[in-house]
Amino acid sequence: MSTTITMPMLHYSVEALEPVISKETIGFHYGKHLQTYVNNLNNLILNSEFTDATLEEMAAKGQGGIGNNAGQVLNHSLYFEQFAPNGKAEPTGALADAIVKSFGSLDELKTKMNTAAATLFGSGWAWLCADAEGQLCIQQMANADNPLRHGLKPLLTFDVWEHAYYLDYQNRRPDYIAALWNIIDWDVVEARFL
Ligand code: MN
Repeated sequence: MSTTITMPMLHYSVEALEPVISKETIGFHYGKHLQTYVNNLNNLILNSEFTDATLEEMAAKGQGGIGNNAGQVLNHSLYFEQFAPNGKAEPTGALADAIVKSFGSLDELKTKMNTAAATLFGSGWAWLCADAEGQLCIQQMANADNPLRHGLKPLLTFDVWEHAYYLDYQNRRPDYIAALWNIIDWDVVEARFL
């Protein structure tokens, strides 16, 4: 039984994240860009060594087109799943403790994440990750790179490919980044940390 990669479900309506992310951007970004990565990946894994692999295995070990498309499917799944129009506004529990230990405060985490996302040159992703000891770090990763390729657990991600923000913010990438904090559901981020 070979693997079929499917689209992640959106657990909010297409206009629910407005004005941070418009219905039009969801339509293109989720509906067109992500769908294309899913379709490409399903075609590429046919008769490949990854035909029975999980998405995570493809994203961690794949080379060339399989690595790029699997990375983009994984990254976008994490991205769209972490948002909610009225999600938990701040982390609590073990994640909140780890944030204080690693960054000093949530505000300092946000400052470091904003800088990483704003200064990433070209296309890519800014990440909040955890290592095997539960230490947190902020990372910039180009193109379709993802934390699984570096032995890190992905917790939170900001897509800074222009297709993620250009319809709503044009060249104002820092405004898009600042606004994303308003739609993060920290319940989702906490569940990834545990
Ligand atoms: Mn994207």
